Amino acid sequence: MKAAVVSLILDSRPEEAIALLSKWYRVPQPKLGVGVFEGRTKGVAAVYSQNTKKILAAKREYMFDPFVMVHEFYHHLRSVGGKHRGTEKQADKFALEFIASYRRLASSGGHMADQTASSSSRTV
Ligand SMILES: [Zn+2]
Repeated sequence: MKAAVVSLILDSRPEEAIALLSKWYRVPQPKLGVGVFEGRTKGVAAVYSQNTKKILAAKREYMFDPFVMVHEFYHHLRSVGGKHRGTEKQADKFALEFIASYRRLASSGGHMADQTASSSSRTV
């Protein structure tokens, strides 16, 4: 599941990745969007709004960054399941697990390895 989520995002299908994540964790699906957000935004790729249940990316390209998307989904998951949105450290760890899982699959060969190579240029 984790590798599939990363693969979908790299394939420019972040909505499907979020749908898969939501189904897997049995939480309502957060909305995805691009836009400006309030507050301290310097260097911020995306934010999760607890009020609107929306993941907002600063730029469209961040919607295709698995680390950013999975990280924000973690905040959604935590705020739906509890009172706390989780720490940044936990969100990063959560996201990195997905990417590690994808890399393990990619390095075992097959067409996923090709995908990693071609998409690495646009996920900086
Ligand atoms: Zn965060």
